[in-house]
Amino acid sequence: MRLNPAPVKAPARLTGPPARRGLDALTRELGLLYGGDYNPEQWPREVWHEDVALMRAAGVNLVTVGVFSWALLEPRPGEFELDWLSDVLDLLHAGAIGVDLATPTASPPAWLGLRWPETRAVTIDGVRLSHGSRNHFCPSSPVYRERALTIAGALVDRFAAHPAVRMWHIGNEYGQVCHCDLCGAEFQAWLHRRYGTVDELNRAWGTTFWSQRYDDWAEIVPPRAAPYLINPTQNLDYRRFASDQLLALFVEQRDLVRRAAPATPVTTNFMGFHPLTDYWQWAPEVDVVADDTYGDPADEDSPLRQGLAHDLMRGLAGGAPWMLMEQAPSAVNWRPHNLPKTPGRMRLDSLRAIARGADGSCFFQWRQSAFGAERFHSALVPHAGPDTRLHRAVGAHGAELRRLDRVVGARVEARAAFVFDWSSWWAVEEPAGCSPGALGRCGHGQCPRRPARSGRGFCCRGRCLSP
Ligand SMILES: [Zn+2]
Repeated sequence: MRLNPAPVKAPARLTGPPARRGLDALTRELGLLYGGDYNPEQWPREVWHEDVALMRAAGVNLVTVGVFSWALLEPRPGEFELDWLSDVLDLLHAGAIGVDLATPTASPPAWLGLRWPETRAVTIDGVRLSHGSRNHFCPSSPVYRERALTIAGALVDRFAAHPAVRMWHIGNEYGQVCHCDLCGAEFQAWLHRRYGTVDELNRAWGTTFWSQRYDDWAEIVPPRAAPYLINPTQNLDYRRFASDQLLALFVEQRDLVRRAAPATPVTTNFMGFHPLTDYWQWAPEVDVVADDTYGDPADEDSPLRQGLAHDLMRGLAGGAPWMLMEQAPSAVNWRPHNLPKTPGRMRLDSLRAIARGADGSCFFQWRQSAFGAERFHSALVPHAGPDTRLHRAVGAHGAELRRLDRVVGARVEARAAFVFDWSSWWAVEEPAGCSPGALGRCGHGQCPRRPARSGRGFCCRGRCLSP
């Protein structure tokens, strides 16, 4: 017997596959995109001028601005302070640097979660997350969605026509999952749309097992802390639901941008094979497929995985050009065993993406943070400043990307052959300081200059890194 069915909210309406704007118009004008996340709010204004001069010298032509700026752009609810961002865009435009302008909705300000605690996500263990990190929002919270659209709308109203803005970047690395009651109610509605009847859900979920049968949509909750294994189909459906909830957030902000700037491509940054986001559902909704790939220099199989992720992006884009939105020029801040990259490895990782169909190779981030959780995440301008080996390599790579602009529009097979003929794997892999003699001392016969004799692994500074 069916008990009082829970009211089902109207489904989050996706607008259907849009005409993809793609990268072609942008890359025809700018060539291969090169740059990274730029967070000028972390620096005094005099540094901004140095940044633009250094970007120009390094061949940078696109930077992503404002990803985590919500608290500065809207310090109090409804009070917007956008002039500083306007100054940044003016400065970048004067320097002929294009801007991928972000909506800052991945990292809500403290006032949002304080005034409206339900905007903060809940973990599977029932813990409501606190302010102080990022990505702590609940995608089902009407207040969060309204405030996210409000700040996004303020940016669109002010900057949609700004000549520096060449692309829009919605949120950041969508992929978190919330288990709160608001999400629970949305999950019930999502299941109702998917299965139609509770009986069909019971059949699909196999709920005769362990007495899990449901009699009403209202009995169904998100996967939460439980004494033993959770129904695997319940888990799978919750992942699908969570991906759809986040996609609805992206779509409503994207449509806001499109109404004001119909010719400007809108994107967000994917995360390779991220298991909590169904990119095959997302890909038709973005104008540009963009990915974050953080290859691990300590993992000898990392180049294979990076290539696999790049090929996934090319597939998601339907063979059209995609862009590498984020990668690290050297070390990151989150790995327990965290090797720096050699400048040659940085260049190789970038060229690998270009060879596999990327028309842009960007990094996180432009200038290394002086503080915060990513203080020790590498950047194109390191703590030690521009007069460093790493930054000189950044400039050299920018110059060679300008020479590689001819591969824009080329078929992937052709560009791969061109990239690696023009700049051989071994030449870019070998770090400065190594010589065949030094490599010979590793005793593994893995000299990069003699690949026919090589096994797996590679040498770095005369020390063999193979197992
Ligand atoms: Zn939630």
